[in-house]
Amino acid sequence: MRYYQHLIYRNENSVMHEEKHNYLMELEKTLISRLAGITRDLTSEHSADSAEQVTERENEDVLRNLQEETRIELQQVRSALKRIEAGDYGACTNCGEEISPERLNALPYATFCIRCAK
Ligand SMILES: [Zn+2]
Repeated sequence: MRYYQHLIYRNENSVMHEEKHNYLMELEKTLISRLAGITRDLTSEHSADSAEQVTERENEDVLRNLQEETRIELQQVRSALKRIEAGDYGACTNCGEEISPERLNALPYATFCIRCAK
């Protein structure tokens, strides 16, 4: 729990942010293991059969898309964790207004308030 040492509990949102921090830490772990699985699948041996190879290539395209999406989500999660640690979490990175708790519950790594996201 070393991260909490960096947290400055300076507002009434701190408990909510602590919950989000736990959630995001778990999500980070999940995404890292998902990425490892995808990478393992992508580097596995190709079959010698050419019909099989076509299917394998199609699967690889799907995997690569998933890999890209997972990487982006992981970046968002990590940047949200940094914002919590810096005490900037919950503020819109565009206008500085507070992001609503409902929105943060639905999307814990949201960087924009609902107005700026539109
Ligand atoms: Zn905004």
